[in-house]
Amino acid sequence: MSSSKTLLVLENFIAGKFVPCSSYIDSYNPSTGDVYCRVPDSGKEEVSTIQMYKKVEAAVRAAKDAFPIWSSKSPLERSQILNKLADLIEHDLEVFAQAESKDQGKTITFARTVDIPRAVYNFRFFASSILHHTTECTEMAAMGYLHYTSRTPVGIAGLISPWNLPLYLLTWKIAPAIACGNTVVAKPSEMTSVTAWMLCKLFEKAGISHGVVNMVFGTGSKAGEAIVCHPDVPLISFTGSTLTAQRITEKSAPHCKKLSLELGGKNPALVFDDADLNQCIPATVRSSFANQGEICLCTSRIFVQKGIYNEFLKRFVEETKKWKVGSPSDPTVDMGALISKEHLEKVTLHGVQLTSSFRGLQKVRNYVKKAQAEGARILCGEGVDSLALSAGNQKGYFMLPTVITEIKDESCCMQEEIFGPVTCVVAFDTEEEAIERANGVKYGLAATVWSSNVSRVHRVAQRLQSGLVWTNCWLVRDLNLPFGGMKASGVGREGAKDSYEFFTEIKTITIKH
Ligand code: NAD
Repeated sequence: MSSSKTLLVLENFIAGKFVPCSSYIDSYNPSTGDVYCRVPDSGKEEVSTIQMYKKVEAAVRAAKDAFPIWSSKSPLERSQILNKLADLIEHDLEVFAQAESKDQGKTITFARTVDIPRAVYNFRFFASSILHHTTECTEMAAMGYLHYTSRTPVGIAGLISPWNLPLYLLTWKIAPAIACGNTVVAKPSEMTSVTAWMLCKLFEKAGISHGVVNMVFGTGSKAGEAIVCHPDVPLISFTGSTLTAQRITEKSAPHCKKLSLELGGKNPALVFDDADLNQCIPATVRSSFANQGEICLCTSRIFVQKGIYNEFLKRFVEETKKWKVGSPSDPTVDMGALISKEHLEKVTLHGVQLTSSFRGLQKVRNYVKKAQAEGARILCGEGVDSLALSAGNQKGYFMLPTVITEIKDESCCMQEEIFGPVTCVVAFDTEEEAIERANGVKYGLAATVWSSNVSRVHRVAQRLQSGLVWTNCWLVRDLNLPFGGMKASGVGREGAKDSYEFFTEIKTITIKH
């Protein structure tokens, strides 16, 4: 462990001020295994529950105090402030990208071209979209009545985000929440808090008044749950795992909170025999392994029609083997390090949460071992090829992109979200069969269809149980349109209109004239 003198020490950001915490947790650089920074553990040293909630209490109070002025600003004033904030992040894009890569293990290229530009765009997008919403009006002219709807901010928004796309997903929540006039208490993942802390340093310069955005760092069980249980936070926007969402739903139920839940996926790609493999193969390698396979939208089950199965498999493995794994700071590297040692020690088995004593049973790597034990074949990656790492990365959490085949649909590798660089390829005969098997999991987030038959593409897209369907492409987003999952992949949608509806309350007013 590095000397604590040289470590970055984060502080909570409450009412426009950085506030030290009495206890801290270590956050690691996944590519070296060294401690990168110390993150406030709001309440760890405190004994009583009431003490534990103090940091969150202060943040909620600050958000409450800031609400009357912020919510009464015009959309145009808020829009100008959001645009200013976007400019400030963009000005520091490289510094943010370096920090995100170090904190999360993702490649510097991914952070530079995806994470931070998207964080900038989130603010620009909602700065613009907030200016264009309209409400409804209907008349009962003969009876002398006029009805119209009015939208107002909900109040204090509790925003909780995961570690895989840290600033990208946190700003996807903060931007619409404050654009709509809410104030915020946010909690990023304890494993990737650095860029959220850096963002707080820009608020004042952008014109965001004190208390409008408060950032409380710490673990989910303490800081996160304190936000979820706080009676003065009427809305929770959460992105993370399905298991955590179940707990949040339970904890928020007594307060009847407004919930938006963006959860896990076990995303299928359906490759039909008329697919353009020159496009499909590189795109499916990317959709399986981008960001170390740590994107909720990553493909992890690839169904290939029998006529092209052998060709697909051969070319897919060849293309996967070209992916370079190594130091995230090397711009020629395609895949960096997985988030943490603990993530390698996956905590669910057949969908059941394991107690800590079972941790390590199901590492991301162990999913591969389990598949092997079941008779599946590992075509490349984990346990098959060797991984050469430079001296500085020997203690990092690296793994090769791994392709599994000859695996049953019931296998946990085909049913559970592994959230790592592991994908399974299996064959199918008919369209009907492909749809049924693609739908045969508890998740329903994102599917991909590859075919040059337009009728088929429409037909299959309609029948897939999936919040998003990409055909002959992957990860192309228009933020105007709804984002979210079906089944265990989520509740609610976010996007221009959907976020506006979620972050505001609607009222119907009737006037007798
Ligand atoms: P996680 O559920 O463990 O944690 C997510 C956030 O919730 C973290 O900030 C964590 O501290 C907090 N948290 C944990 N327990 C809590 C509790 N009891 N109360 C309140 N907050 C709590 O998820 P993760 O491991 O950080 O992220 C990976 C998961 O996120 C994967 O399942 C992935 O698919 C999902 N994800 C979904 C989307 C999407 O848009 N659908 C996007 C990215 C990631």
